[in-house]
Amino acid sequence: MSITVQNYVAGEWSTGGGRTFERRNPADLQEVVATAPESGADEVAAAVAHVAEHRHAWSALAPEVRADVLVRAADMLQARADTLIEELVREEGKTRAEARMEAMRTPQNLRFYAGEALRLSGETYPSSGGGLVYSSRQPVGVVAAITPWNFPLNIPSRKLGPALAAGNGVVFKPSELTPVTAQRLVEVLLEAGVPGGALALVHGHAEAGRALVADPHVDAVTFTGSTAVGEAIHRTVPVQVRCQLEMGGKNAMVVCADADLERAADIIAKGAFGLSGQACTGTSRVIVHESVQLDLLDRVMERARAAVVGNGLTDGVTMGPLASEAQWDKYHEFLKEGDNSAARRETPLQDPVLDGGYFARPAIFSDVDPQDRMAQEEIFSPVLAFITVASYDEAVRVANGTPYGLSAGIATRDIATALAFSRDVDAGVVKVNEATSGMAMNAPFGGTRRSSTQTHKEQAGATMMHFYTTDKTVYVS
Ligand code: NAD
Repeated sequence: MSITVQNYVAGEWSTGGGRTFERRNPADLQEVVATAPESGADEVAAAVAHVAEHRHAWSALAPEVRADVLVRAADMLQARADTLIEELVREEGKTRAEARMEAMRTPQNLRFYAGEALRLSGETYPSSGGGLVYSSRQPVGVVAAITPWNFPLNIPSRKLGPALAAGNGVVFKPSELTPVTAQRLVEVLLEAGVPGGALALVHGHAEAGRALVADPHVDAVTFTGSTAVGEAIHRTVPVQVRCQLEMGGKNAMVVCADADLERAADIIAKGAFGLSGQACTGTSRVIVHESVQLDLLDRVMERARAAVVGNGLTDGVTMGPLASEAQWDKYHEFLKEGDNSAARRETPLQDPVLDGGYFARPAIFSDVDPQDRMAQEEIFSPVLAFITVASYDEAVRVANGTPYGLSAGIATRDIATALAFSRDVDAGVVKVNEATSGMAMNAPFGGTRRSSTQTHKEQAGATMMHFYTTDKTVYVS
């Protein structure tokens, strides 16, 4: 059954200006999952103006009250998990198990940031005049939150949670591919007690995002998405607007000659094929020592062959479809690119066809040149490039040889090599004998170089509260 989702603007649910768009199930393109308002500049301006005018009632509440609201919202999400999981699978395409992990993690995020509302603290400073000098943390103001589709509950909860905990007003523009889950998150926050003056939801595509970023009443932009869009936003945001951009990656797993190859193959398969290769921290390059290349390849191939691709609601399926036609096109573009290069495709040239959705099987290429597009650009699908190296130094050079710096991993039994790699690799996250994907909710998470603006370790943990607060220094004599 198709769901009609709405904007939430000026304290009311509304259908917007009349234009709409459809979201179809990527596992079954016959099924329309949702119809949503296609917001333009007018709807966005109305949403921002209302939050700018009314957000103060929320920031004036005691921090315990804001914290209680977030905890209530977390409890409601948890109570509705079964429905959320079902909707998430139909809307985004992930498997039921992947959706369950996301539905469990999202309330945990809200509870974590509820706690941070109570921990916001300032400092006092020695004063030459004998008076009192102290700093206090204030909300930044109106936060524009723009999010991607691959974790449509988890990522928004890591923006709306801390922003609201700190007392900000938020205007949320979710991905056009996941309007239903976005609406569910906003519904629980409102039901739990966030006032309509502190939160707005505007659905739509790039037009809505552009209008939001350009709105003069926005004080901070928090964006997670592709590097191309993040960099386009960066060029337009005025200097007085705080800007946090968490973007793409080209994450590498280095496999040393001494590695436990069974474990290495497990974590590579998890990183490369989990979420059908559509995690920002997913493994897309394997940089392997020449002495173990064939052994490792055999083991990863075995896991690729074992992947069961299909509708995420079907029992036994381990890989859902790609999320959209654009994703599907990119996957095929890179298969062609690989076939036309000197690299060797290890997986079958003719994949069996799975009708009716954007299904994609794992594709592995070996002997990939580190300078090939396949080894340089984010593909965001289950395409894995094996690059063979002869030494640790060469492995580090190749790992650092892309414009990105999100996540990197190393498989080795040698602690000295692991520690050297954690120092030498240019990435925001380093994993030792663990998949490049999968992050703790309470530790800082963010990238380097063209993966991130590195604004307060962006995406998780308590450091993020700095993005959503501004220090005010007060002198009292
Ligand atoms: P995207 O950049 O296409 O879209 C992200 C959001 O930006 C969507 O809501 C979209 O509507 C909006 N948007 C598009 N153009 C805009 C514009 N000109 N101005 C303002 N907003 C605009 O990304 P996507 O396809 O939704 O998500 C996949 C990308 O997200 C991948 O590159 C992935 O690596 C990245 N990602 C990064 C992280 C991270 O933590 N670093 C996490 C998840 C996803």
